[in-house]
Amino acid sequence: MNEQAEKILAVSGSALKMVGDTASKALNVSKAYANRAKEEMELRRKFYELGKICYEMYSSGSDETGNIKAKIEEIKKAESRIDITKEHTGASRRCPVCGAANIYSNSFCSKCGSNL
Ligand SMILES: [Zn+2]
Repeated sequence: MNEQAEKILAVSGSALKMVGDTASKALNVSKAYANRAKEEMELRRKFYELGKICYEMYSSGSDETGNIKAKIEEIKKAESRIDITKEHTGASRRCPVCGAANIYSNSFCSKCGSNL
């Protein structure tokens, strides 16, 4: 194989690798979005259940608050899972310098230019 052909192969090989890397990053981001949508649905369901527990307690005149406490703990856990997925969907990558919200894929802050 001549030198020219080897160079072309090397360049196209690294270009293909770049395309592959970008595609897998995009796939990971869309997986994170799907995961977050699922978590948010789960969170809404928990709020509904909490409302139902309160309603039933109020209707029956009960003052047993254990179920409410347990449901609130579940909600807190669900909320912290959503915070984690937000980091992967780019919803909130805060600039350490100015505090601006940046897209997750940004390397630099869109407001002040600092390293993220
Ligand atoms: Zn900034």
